[in-house]
Formats: sequence, structure tokens, C-alpha cells
Amino acid sequence: MTETQTKKLKGIAASDGVGIAKSYLLVDPDLSFSYNQKVSDLDNEKDRLDKALADSKDDLQKIKAKAEKNLGKDEAEVFEAHLTILSDPEMIAAIQAQITDNSINAESAVKNVTDHYVATFEAMKDNAYMQERAGDIRDIAKRIISHLLGVSLPNPALINEEVIVVAHDLTPSDTAQLDPQFVRGIVTDMGGRTAHASIMARSLEIPAVVGTGNAIDNIKNGVNLIVDGGAGDVLVDPNQEEEIVYARKVGEYYARKRQQAELRDKPSQSADGIHFDVNANIGSPKDLDAVVKNGAEGIGLFRTEFLFIDSDHLPTEDEQFESYKAALQALKGKPVTVRTMDIGGDKQLSYWKLPKEDNPFLGYRAIRISLKQDDIFRTQLRALLRASVYGDLWIMFPMIATLQEFRDAKKIYEEERDRLVKNGTKIADNIKLGIMVEIPASAVLADQFAKEVDFFSIGTNDLIQYTMAADRGNDRVSYLYQPYNPAILRLIKHVIESAHNEKKFVAMCGEMAGDPVAVPILMGLGLDEFSMSASSVLPTRSLMKSLKVSDMKELAEKSVNQQTNQQVIDLVKSYQK
Ligand code: PEP
Ligand code: MG
Repeated sequence: MTETQTKKLKGIAASDGVGIAKSYLLVDPDLSFSYNQKVSDLDNEKDRLDKALADSKDDLQKIKAKAEKNLGKDEAEVFEAHLTILSDPEMIAAIQAQITDNSINAESAVKNVTDHYVATFEAMKDNAYMQERAGDIRDIAKRIISHLLGVSLPNPALINEEVIVVAHDLTPSDTAQLDPQFVRGIVTDMGGRTAHASIMARSLEIPAVVGTGNAIDNIKNGVNLIVDGGAGDVLVDPNQEEEIVYARKVGEYYARKRQQAELRDKPSQSADGIHFDVNANIGSPKDLDAVVKNGAEGIGLFRTEFLFIDSDHLPTEDEQFESYKAALQALKGKPVTVRTMDIGGDKQLSYWKLPKEDNPFLGYRAIRISLKQDDIFRTQLRALLRASVYGDLWIMFPMIATLQEFRDAKKIYEEERDRLVKNGTKIADNIKLGIMVEIPASAVLADQFAKEVDFFSIGTNDLIQYTMAADRGNDRVSYLYQPYNPAILRLIKHVIESAHNEKKFVAMCGEMAGDPVAVPILMGLGLDEFSMSASSVLPTRSLMKSLKVSDMKELAEKSVNQQTNQQVIDLVKSYQK
């Protein structure tokens, strides 16, 4: 008898917990074909097209029905739009004409016609509706061609049994479609701990190992998998003994969580009685339950771009208003910090394509878009201002590099506020206006910014990537992604001191705020608010309880004077003994 050996893959520990289930490969199948290949039997080609169109329609009807059941009517609407396009007689006639006029295969005919539509719609740059349609047509073309080639497309939204999703890379929009009820784990080839897909996995409490480099090559569809998201291990086809060991780990994980749950309604306080705000980050109102369940003391970051990513159109003012109102009401007067749209980088919209750039992380994104295409920005600000009466609203702008950007954004904000007031709309009078400090330029100039803003929120996910010039989602340079490098710690210290010198409040909403190695140092540096994935709130509160700020001040002072990331890690360990 031959004994199969468990394959072990190593990756980056991206979301804690252990998942055991069968693999589900979320990989786009090979959709290549001979382009503009000549065919002689044109009737056969047209029959193939008819069948592919009918099968695509069938698919979409099934997907729509399931999406309606699992995700609700609104989320399913996109498939209705796809069905309408799929039955468009003009488009079908154009594809048929391509086959007859050029004697080419059906795949090429579909591509030529849909490419033409996509290019026409995309050329209407200022028309968001047309941009959305371009995305729809691209999706439909993919589906028809997959049927012509006889391969099936995976669909993350429709997973309805327990699986571990394995992918080359996951976009934030892929991740948003995963249902934590069924998805027991995530494994990817690419990615880093602070890539948005990882952050979302943590907020959905799905164990994840990213940046394995070779998961797709080593894992077949439907094999048994174990994912240890705390250790960064993936076991492919584990033996019985391993399954028992890991099932025990699942039990330990939940026992730890039950213990921490006792701190849910307790304040976050150090062993020597100093209070810190421990808040949660969210991406949409869907995350509010987790905020309340984990006893967060506020929302430190509402990543509003996920309202845009989750939708199939630019959310209207009223749609946004409802989301902000829901967050403010759920928090019952506790602070809610909402960040204006931070699209770009790894956060792209299917229906509104940004211009292709060589360096999207350094390009046209976030506040840069908001200041240039200010109609979208103004809509968002109006929705926020109207919602402000439902709680304690703090608004901040992402990716601020210069004082001028902050002043320009503030001016637009004030214009919209004054206009609403003039129209008799009720607006809270205590809204705070701040910035994300996530570009080294604004961190270095924090003393100047502090005179003009109400508060800072340090976005370490980006601050680290820009300071170290190491892409946060690239596992090849993850060794340079060093949160405890004294260069980073000194920047943070400067930002905190600059804020306090002006009696301003300073928060951190990057993942570092919930990192057990960083928390002791940040307590010593005097950070006011720690905001993190909701699942990290209770572990952080529990850690804070065990530490004295008087000791942490000494630790922080020593940390900023170390030479390396590793020396700081060792130093923190020595204080936790
Ligand atoms: C950050 O950069 O630290 C941050 C919180 O924003 P995001 O992760 O959305 O870029
Ligand atoms: Mg950021």
C-alpha cells in the first residue's frame, strides 16, 4: 500500500483561525482561442453561437435566482442587466454578421463585436452609466466565449457548501462576494498581510494564508485542505492524525475567543488604569454587527469605497446617506470616522474604469480623484452631512500629500455644507474634519497639518509601503514591509507628538493598530485611538489590560532608538515576559 504524503505550503499568515474543508479553485479558465480563424461551415458556427447564447442565458437565470436568494434583490439586479444585454437583437445580429461576412469562428465574432461596444462605451469617459455597461459587456463576452470553448466560469458569490477558496490572487471585489458561512478559508499565490483582500478576510473572520507563491500549481479542485491562518500553513490532503491535531486547534481558537468575549462591555484600559479607544474598521453597513458583537468603542475607519465596489453603479446620494445613517445609528452616539472614497491602487470598480497607469499605487487615486472629479466627492459629502444628525460624525480625507489638498477638500466640504444649510437641511454642528496620515510627506509635515485639521488617523498600511518603497500586496518584497522599523516608529512618534502639541486627537487605523507587537509601543507613544478589524478588538483589549503604560513609555523610547525591525521585536518580547 502506498501512503500519500501531505503536501505543506508556506505563506503569509493573513487572517487568524483554522479552516478545514475541500478546495474550491477560483481561477479563470483558459479562454484562449484561434483569433479570426477562418471557417467553412458557417451554419455550424451560427449553431454553436446560438447554443452558447442559450447556455449563457440559462447560466445567468440560475445565477440571478441564487443571488436573489443569497444576497438579496438589489445585488441580483446586475444579472438582470446582463440578461437584457445578452438578448439584445442588435448585438446578436452584429455577431452573426461577423461570422457570415468574414467567415470567422464564433469566438472571434463575439470578441470583435463586444470589443467594439466596450471601446465605444469606455470612450464616453464622463458618463458613469456607459462605463458600467462596458464592464457588463466584458463579463458577458467572457461567459459566451467560455460556453463556445466548453469550459465553466467559477462564481464566488454562488458558493453554497463549505469550501476553502484557492486563487492566484483575490481582488477586494472577489473577497466581498465570499460568504463566511460557507468559506472556511482562503489560500492565494499572491498578496500581503495588509492587501485589502487580507484585511477583508480578517473582518469576515475567514482564516487566510496569502503569498504562498505556488498554491494554484499544487492544489487541485475538491481536495481536502487545512488552512492555519495564524501560522501561515496550508496542508494539502492531510492525513487523519493531522486532521485530529488541527480540529483541536479549531477548538482552542474558539475557546480563546469565548474568553475574550467577556471583555466585550469592558473599557480598554492598561494595567495602570490608562484608557485608550479601541475601535473597529468597516467597509459597509454589513460589518456593523461585528462591530457591536466585538464591543468596539467606535468606528475608526469606514472605508466608503467598498460601497462603490459592492455596487454595480456609482452609489447615489440617498443610497450613501442610508449607509452612513445606519452606521451612526448602530453606534448610538459613539464616534464614527468616515473616510471619503479611496478608489484606486488595488481597489478598482468594474463599472468605472480608471485610466491604465504604470504605477496605480502612486497614481490617480483617492483624494486626487475627488478633487478632480468633484461631482462624485460633493455627492458623498452631501450624503455625509445629511447623515451627521444621527450620531457623532468624523470625516477624513485619504492620501493627503500636501496642505493645499487638505485646504481644497475642506473648501469643497464647506461649500456643500453651506448650500445644505441655506436649503434648511439639518446638519450636526460638531462634525470633525481630519486626514489620513499615510504618505510620508504628510507625516513629516504633521506639525504644520496639526494646526489646520481636527484630527489625524495614521494609515500605516500605506505609510509603511510608501516609506519602505515596498508594495503592500507583493509577497516578493514582503521582507521590506517592516512595521517596527525604527524609521516607521519615528514617523509615528512625530505624528503623535505634533498632534498633541496642538491639542489634537490622533488615531491609527492601519493594521498595525491591532498588531500585538506594535500595540505596546503605540501605548507608550501615547496614541489616543486604535482602530482595527473588528475581530482584533477583543484580543487587543485583552493585551492592553496586561501592560502598564509607565513600562510601555520606556519600551517606546528604546524602540525608536533601535537599528532594525528585528531588534524592536526582540525588545517587545523582553517586556512581555
Ligand atoms: C492604511 O493605508 O493604513 C489604511 C487604513 O487605508 P487602506 O488600508 O484602506 O489603504
Ligand atoms: Mg491607505
